[in-house]
Amino acid sequence: MAENIRLEVVTPEKSVVSEEAQIVMAPGTLGEFGVLSGHTPFLTTLKTGALKYKDEGGRERFVFVSSGFAEALPDRVTVLAESAERRKDIDVQRAKAAAERAEKRLREQAKEADIDFIRAKAALLRAINRIQLAETR
Ligand code: ATP
Repeated sequence: MAENIRLEVVTPEKSVVSEEAQIVMAPGTLGEFGVLSGHTPFLTTLKTGALKYKDEGGRERFVFVSSGFAEALPDRVTVLAESAERRKDIDVQRAKAAAERAEKRLREQAKEADIDFIRAKAALLRAINRIQLAETR
């Protein structure tokens, strides 16, 4: 049987995942990538989206990740995300409220180069990805 890899998902606030995985799939900025044990080392930036992995028992697990970096080594994947939480921990009402706030800000601000506009767009993207991932529960 193939060996497992160590998966660590951390944010500035907390450790979200620290366990052995059979395979890890993550949303790289250049596209989704998969890592198995023995993978060639690489470093990539991440998009906001869903990280998926199979745990030791072969069960699929899902984690929301909001941008950051992933480092793959032959025996481990380390994800440093700005924010992250397991699918089961997503509070859909909170994400819907965040989406509404962001949409309101986007409607009120027509200037696309404005820093608040860029922040609101990123907040809306996080909220939409959280809602979509929670809907797969
Ligand atoms: P909000 O405006 O609701 O705080 P946000 O997108 O600005 O949303 P983040 O900055 O991405 O929030 O995350 C801040 C912290 O709150 C992180 O620990 C993140 O895991 C958690 N978090 C944010 N939104 C949710 C949610 N809908 N469900 C569960 N945890 C969340």
